[in-house]
Amino acid sequence: MLESPCHLLYEGKAKKIYATSNPQHYIVDYKDAASAFNGLKKATIEGKGALNNRISNYLMQYLQTQGISTHFLQELSPTQTRVKKLTMFALEVIVRNLAAGSIAKRLGLQEGLPFETPVLEFCYKNDALGDPLINDDHALALKLASHAELQTLRALALQINDLLGAYFKSKGVILVDFKLEFGKDAQGQIVLGDEVSPDTCRFWDATTRQKLDKDRFREDLGGLCQAYETILQKVSH
Ligand code: ADP
Ligand code: UDP
Repeated sequence: MLESPCHLLYEGKAKKIYATSNPQHYIVDYKDAASAFNGLKKATIEGKGALNNRISNYLMQYLQTQGISTHFLQELSPTQTRVKKLTMFALEVIVRNLAAGSIAKRLGLQEGLPFETPVLEFCYKNDALGDPLINDDHALALKLASHAELQTLRALALQINDLLGAYFKSKGVILVDFKLEFGKDAQGQIVLGDEVSPDTCRFWDATTRQKLDKDRFREDLGGLCQAYETILQKVSH
């Protein structure tokens, strides 16, 4: 299944990254692992890896048709995808349309409060520190990106929010918030990497406001795979 020769370069909480015979390509293998609260809560959920792989690939391909550069190259199997190798920024770019999760807790906001304009946050991708929220000056001080790169990341994340927000609205789903990771390709171009899935986005059914994302695991609501299957059906039709 995997192109050979290949070897495991990195195993994260949700995915494994393999090197391939092509030095510009990686193979991503999605695991059936769920984790939350900085790895404190963990479980194996059979079928989740394949759902995230397929959902992310549909969404990355949709974004590509809209002019966004992504790392997606080819779906190889239910859980494996060939991607462009990127040098990742140690940054998570979060965009929020409605209050939920950490911002609701941190600022004392009621879950579901709509923001007049999207709220963009940067977090320092560092497991040992719990991926802390940082501002642009922190990112510059830590040399995580240049000023111009931060501006590009912000603009891309807001453009992706407009695209995905409208896309999901047309499918009866509210895009509450999401996290993106970007990197640079061999030409130095900034490209969307990692994944875009119900593990990394909050999705609510627009009619029932039922949660269709990893909050089902975070909040012990059950029915995670059914919720992810609902999202897959919507993005694949
Ligand atoms: P984590 O590292 O947070 O546990 P994952 O299990 O999802 O997360 O691991 C995937 C890792 O691969 C992340 O560190 C992510 O930044 C990195 N990554 C994602 N896409 C690419 C890519 N195209 N090139 C290089 N690294 C990537
Ligand atoms: N998110 C993510 N990975 C992280 C942190 C956040 O994918 O390491 C996503 C999360 O799924 C949600 C959005 O980013 O869609 C905002 O997350 P929040 O800060 O509310 O995090 P929480 O503490 O709830 O995980």
